[in-house]
Amino acid sequence: MSELAYPYEAPASQALFDRAAAVTPGGVNSPVRAFRAVGGTPRFMVSGTGPYLTDADGREYVDLVCSWGPMILGHAHPEVIAAVQEAVARGTSFGTPAEGEVALAEAMVERVAPLEEVRLVSSGTEATMSAIRLARGFTRRTKVIKFAGCYHGHVDSLLAAAGSGVATFALPDTPGVTGAQASDTIVLPYNDLEAVHAAFAAHPGEIACVITEASPGNMGVVPPLPGFNQGLKDACAAHGALFVSDEVMTGFRTSRAGWYGVEGVVPDLMTFGKVMGGGFPAAAFGGRADVMAHLAPAGPVYQAGTLSGNPVATAAGLAQLRLLDDAAYETVNAVSKQIQGLVTEALSKEGVAHTLQNASNMFSVFFTDRPVTNYDQARAQESFRFTAFFHSLLANGVYLPPSSFESWFVSTAHDERAVQRIADALPAAARAAAEATA
Ligand code: PLP
Repeated sequence: MSELAYPYEAPASQALFDRAAAVTPGGVNSPVRAFRAVGGTPRFMVSGTGPYLTDADGREYVDLVCSWGPMILGHAHPEVIAAVQEAVARGTSFGTPAEGEVALAEAMVERVAPLEEVRLVSSGTEATMSAIRLARGFTRRTKVIKFAGCYHGHVDSLLAAAGSGVATFALPDTPGVTGAQASDTIVLPYNDLEAVHAAFAAHPGEIACVITEASPGNMGVVPPLPGFNQGLKDACAAHGALFVSDEVMTGFRTSRAGWYGVEGVVPDLMTFGKVMGGGFPAAAFGGRADVMAHLAPAGPVYQAGTLSGNPVATAAGLAQLRLLDDAAYETVNAVSKQIQGLVTEALSKEGVAHTLQNASNMFSVFFTDRPVTNYDQARAQESFRFTAFFHSLLANGVYLPPSSFESWFVSTAHDERAVQRIADALPAAARAAAEATA
C-alpha cells in the first residue's frame, strides 16, 4: 500500500462519527478516541480477534492499543469468552456478595505480596479516588503529592498536570475542578526526589500520601529512575504518610505481580484496573490490612458501588489472570522486544531522532534524541513527526495509540503474521516521520 495523507477514506467510520457527534460531546465517550491529537477520522471498530481489530469499513488492523492495556491475551480469547458466557447465563448482577469476587480478590492477593486486602470497584478512576480518600481518612491529613505527567483517572483533585488525554490536549487543569480541590494537591516533577523531600519539609504533618504511577505510561513510557520509588516509600515512612502505587496500567501486565514484581518496592496502598477486568469494568484498590480496616463497613471511611464485584466482570478478570502464567509473560515480553527492535531499526534507517523507552513489555517512542525522565522532557519532543508516523501506519493496517503521550500495548496473540504486518508498514511510516514538518 502506498503512503496516504489523511483524511483518507473511512466512510463508514465517518458516518458513525457524524451520528455520534450529534448525541455525544465530541462524538466519543473518552477524549483520546476522537483523534484530536493526530487529526483524521476515528475508526469505529466492530470486532476484535486475537491481535486484530476490524473497523466499520471492513479494514483489519494489527492492534497496538489493546484497549489501552486490558487485552493482554488479545481480543476475544476463547477461554475468557467461555467464562463470560457461563457467568452471563447465571445472571448479570445480583447486588449481593458472590463467590466470583472472592476468587478474583484471592487471585490478586496471591500474586501481589503487599496486597493483603482488596476492595473491588468498577474503574481505575474509582480506585485512585477511593485510595486517596482512605489515605486521608487513615492519616487524618489533607494534602496529596502527585507527579506532573502521571495520570490517575479523572479524579477532581488529581487532574492537575495529569498526562494521558490531558497531556494530549495540553490542559494544565480543567474547568469544573475547584481551587479548593486542587489546592490540596502538590504537583512535583517526576523522578525528582529532592522536590519530594522539600515538599515534606514545607508541609510538616500535612501530607496524607504520595501517589505515583508505579511506572508511568501516560506521558509516554517514562520508567522510574533507579531508587526513585524506594525513595518515595522511605520519605513517606519517615513523615507518616502513605505511599500509593497506581498499578492500574502496569498491574498484571508488566509481570505476574505488576511493577511491584519488577522492582519490589512495597507500597502501603495500590490501585488496579485494566488487565484484572479482562476487558470488563473491574478495578480495585488495596494494600496494608491495617489501613484497609478503616474502610466501611469495617471502619469509618465510606466507599461503595452498585456494580462493584460484578459477576460477569469478575469472571472475565479471573479467567484472564488464570491464563497469565510465566509463559504468557515471556511471550508478551518477547513480542514487545521484537516490535521495539523493528521500530528502532526503521526510524534509525531514516535518520529520525527518536528515543524508544520501555517498562517491561510497555513501550513508546519519543521523537527526540534525549532520554525522557519527566513530563517537560516528554513535551519537548517533535510530536508532529508522530502524527505523520501514526497516519502512515494506520493507512497500512497498524493501529497505534492516537497520541505521542501514550504507551503502546501488545498481547500474547501478537504472532508472526501480526509482527510481519508491522514490519512491512514501518519503513513508509519512518519515511513519513522523517519528511514531516512542524
Ligand atoms: N491510573 C492509571 C495509571 C491509568 O492509566 C488510568 C487510565 O488510563 C487510570 C488510573 C484511570 O482508569 P480508568 O480509565 O479505568 O478510570
